[in-house]
Amino acid sequence: MTVKITNKIVGYRVKKADPIASEHQPPVQAETKPVQMNEYIERPDFLLGTTYKIKPPIAEHAMYITINDILLNEGTDHESRQPYEVFINSKSMEHFQWVIALTRVISAVFRKGGDVTFLVEELRSVYDPNGGYFKKGGVFMPSLVAEIGAVIEKHLKAIGLLESEEMSETTKRILAEKRAEFEASHSTATNDDKASDFPPNATMCGKCSTKAVIVMDGCATCLSCGDSKCG
Ligand SMILES: [Zn+2]
Repeated sequence: MTVKITNKIVGYRVKKADPIASEHQPPVQAETKPVQMNEYIERPDFLLGTTYKIKPPIAEHAMYITINDILLNEGTDHESRQPYEVFINSKSMEHFQWVIALTRVISAVFRKGGDVTFLVEELRSVYDPNGGYFKKGGVFMPSLVAEIGAVIEKHLKAIGLLESEEMSETTKRILAEKRAEFEASHSTATNDDKASDFPPNATMCGKCSTKAVIVMDGCATCLSCGDSKCG
């Protein structure tokens, strides 16, 4: 029906959607996105920490590397443990200033979030111009920075941010057999060299930087990582 407007229009409003109709629409899910690591996350009073001890021969005293993790989205399907900060303590003062600087920069990278695993490669590829050293177990470390990188790698593997290449039980057994055979044929009278976990005459492995390569039947085998070359 038509209505004749006889009075002046003094105001108008747009008709709102029928409130009953909107009730039939699916309710908007109050879905909260999982929290990603970012620098604005306030530091909780409580963090989970792990302390690693290293004893680089180039430092007078042992160093204690503590990495604290934060639990994000705790109790949900998106729960994840992310590194939050790193501290290095030692009685040795000779490396003090750059160690403090390094830990602050690493902590800042941790808190920025994103993929922080690149730090491992960056640190592990630092070479000391004075030459590196062998740590206990016969693993070569090109520098103290590289060993700090190795600790961070170990930690990221432990909390599941890096995949750890676990050797299969079969490989472990074969390596143990090879080692026993090698040690039987090279009766090592001097058993005082406990610096290495591997036979004293083992040579350096190009793959895992451990003095663990033995040669038997024309094949060089690394007793640490299983890398093998024949001929
Ligand atoms: Zn190896």
